[in-house]
Amino acid sequence: MRCRAIKKNGKQCRQCGKPQQSGGEIINGYCNYHKQFRDEDTKKTEDTKKTEDTKENPNSEIPLEIKLYLSKPFDKYEYYRLISKYHPDKNKSYSVSLITLFSQLINSHKI
Ligand SMILES: [Zn+2]
Repeated sequence: MRCRAIKKNGKQCRQCGKPQQSGGEIINGYCNYHKQFRDEDTKKTEDTKKTEDTKENPNSEIPLEIKLYLSKPFDKYEYYRLISKYHPDKNKSYSVSLITLFSQLINSHKI
């Protein structure tokens, strides 16, 4: 299992829980360096439970340019543009859990 975090340079974290690596065990998909994301995932799960009966849909929060990116064949340049734009350190317009969701979506489309 590999850490799912995206670093500032747009690359995925290389920690995968190997004994010779310094990031420690991968828990909830993230290494010790990115353990703040573990909490975000937990919160997201809790939020989902809370809003289960409401009409709130996280998909409606996804910016159009991400939807467009996802609907088209993988574009390396668009990927790097979006992954740096929707980075929790750079983009304060969305909550950390949404930004994390966006970067996961952007990454899931990567070939
Ligand atoms: Zn990591």
